[in-house]
This record gives sequence, structure tokens and C-alpha cells, in this order.
Amino acid sequence: HNRLFSGVQPTGDLHLGNYLGAIRRFAPMQDQFDCIFCVVDMHAITVWQDPKALRQKTREVAAAYIATGVDPKRSIIFNQSQVMQHAELAWVFNCVARIGWMNRMTQFKDKAGKNRENASLGLYAYPSLMAADILLYRGTHVPVGDDQKQHLELTRDIAGKFNNDFKNEIIEEGFEDGDFFPITEPLISGPAMRIMSLRDGSKKMSKSDPSEMSCIALMDDADKIAQKFRKAKTDPEPLPSELEGLEGRPEARNLVEIYAALSNQSSEDVLKEFGGQGFGAFKPALADLAVAHLSPISSEISRMLADPDEIDSILRDGAERAGEIAEETMKHVRQIVGFLS
Ligand code: ATP
Ligand code: MG
Repeated sequence: HNRLFSGVQPTGDLHLGNYLGAIRRFAPMQDQFDCIFCVVDMHAITVWQDPKALRQKTREVAAAYIATGVDPKRSIIFNQSQVMQHAELAWVFNCVARIGWMNRMTQFKDKAGKNRENASLGLYAYPSLMAADILLYRGTHVPVGDDQKQHLELTRDIAGKFNNDFKNEIIEEGFEDGDFFPITEPLISGPAMRIMSLRDGSKKMSKSDPSEMSCIALMDDADKIAQKFRKAKTDPEPLPSELEGLEGRPEARNLVEIYAALSNQSSEDVLKEFGGQGFGAFKPALADLAVAHLSPISSEISRMLADPDEIDSILRDGAERAGEIAEETMKHVRQIVGFLS
């Protein structure tokens, strides 16, 4: 039985990286899997969030799911904090995962920065909560961007260690092959799995990047999008005609990949069309393409945000359905680990 889970944090303005690496891939998955799409507000508070903004951003992420074609009846859309079992299973996983595993996580190192002693304990334990998100639904497939690869490997390690540590109890609980949690398959292939910052080709585009010019936000208007691409960092050379010519040119490669992903072509095809041309010609073409692609989505998100009660009720309904699956899993987990109930 295949179940797919993915989540996005309501931390800031959704951007092209979130869209291409994750959100736009969600709706098509509904044909193949039972899908659960979560707005991970408990992950968001691992770094400071203004409470009012958090509520608004939670609605915005949910609206983005729906605006890109996720059907809240067919799939489950909800916000994480409404299903308390996420926190409960994360605690169990905090006791399964090893400190040494967490110490290797590059996202923590990046986000904590130099002053690591002052980062929240939640930020450190983030991957354990993420494993709980997925495994609470015994999720088998997880579509995410490339930056989440390491966390998904950790999810597999946690599932494997849990299955192993509690082997006898799991069999006693009626799971004869001893595999209570599935070993989750990451879905991270295809183009545009790692969109880079427009200001720095060595950093991924991130909601939490303090430079507004580093991201194309889903909600940016046409002028803003054109301005941000115009000011995007590039080199003085024209575009090459072949892929090898992008070697050592991360900013140029990034823009070509964005163009390719938005027009459903390969980067090779984009270079066939634009090879030999300068960024003065390429950037406006890219901006036009992005605007044509994003503007129907952003108008739909705005339309939905005008009726927050409707979004809230979709999220409550989703939480109820998610909660039933979650409680089913937790009944077994409590029994397996030896909690008296
Ligand atoms: P934050 O800076 O708060 O971590 P974020 O931009 O990294 O925000 P997340 O909510 O952490 O966004 O991630 C949501 C999804 O978007 C994940 O599947 C993640 O892998 C994907 N994603 C994030 N940034 C990129 C990117 N630059 N390129 C491709 N996918 C991305
Ligand atoms: Mg992130």
C-alpha cells in the first residue's frame, strides 16, 4: 500500500524553488498515491515566527496547494499542529535517533549559523519531527527538493532502528514480517530539484533568506519578477550552446534550469534556442515565462485568501481525517514501546 506525504513550512514567502522542487509536483501525484499534504507549522517555530504572520502564512501554503491542483477531498490537506500525534511520535523518535546522527545534519549547521549554542533545541531535533510526520502515516513516498535528501535518509535510519529495536514487540503486535514502519522512498528526481539564490549561485533559494532579491516569490507581480531577474547575478559571457559551457557558471546554469523547468524542456533545448545570446535578451524572456506561469496561480491564491474561513475549514476537515490515521498508528506504537494505556 502506497501513501505519499509532503510538507512545506509556513515561514515566509513561497518561492520558485518551493514551487518547482515540491508544490507543483503534488497534484499529479494524486493519480498514483493516497496523498497527505501538510503545512508544517510546528517545524516553522524552530526559528522565531511572528504568531499573526504564522497563521496567515499557514493559510497561504494551504491555498498554494489547492491553487496548484491538489483536491482537498481526494487528498488530505492539514496543518501539523492540529494533529498532536506528530509531537507524540517525534518524542519517541527523539529517543530512537542518536545525537551523532543529528550532528551530521547540514540544514542545522546552515540555519544555526555561527552561534550554534543559541539555536533552539527544536531546530536541532527538526529531522526527528520530520521522520514522525512521514511515518505517522506510514508514508512510503515523499516528494521534496534536493535539500531534504539528508533528512529523508535519517527518516529511513529511524524507521530501520525502530523496527530493529522493537522487533519482538512488533511481531507480537501482529506485524509478522517485523516491519512496522516502511523504509520511505524519496522522490527527488527531475530538473529543478535545487533552485539557487538569484544573488549567490552557491546558496539555495530559501524563504528565510534575508535578501528579498534572492527569491522569486509566488506572489510577486509582473514588475517585481522582471526586476528581480534583471538584477539577478550573472557573468558577462553570453549563454553557451551546449551544456558543458555552463560548467563553473552556477548563476547562468540556475537561470537556464529555471527556464527549462517552467517551459517543460531540457536545459539542452533551452541552450539550443538561446545559445550565443546575452543575458540582456535571456532575462526578459525568462521573466515573461515566469509571469505567464505564476500569475494564474498567484491570483487563485489571493482569491482564496480573501475567504480565510473556507481555508480554515478545509484544514480542520483534513486534520480530522489525518488524525484518524495518526491515532491508529500511535495505538500500535504505544503498545510496541510498552506504554501502559
Ligand atoms: P526555509 O528557509 O524556512 O527552510 P525553504 O525555502 O527551505 O524555507 P521549506 O518549507 O523548508 O522551504 O521546504 C519546502 C519544500 O520546498 C521542500 O520540499 C524543499 O525541499 C523544497 N525546496 C526548498 N527550497 C528549494 C529550492 N531552492 N529548490 C528546490 N526545492 C526547494
Ligand atoms: Mg527549508
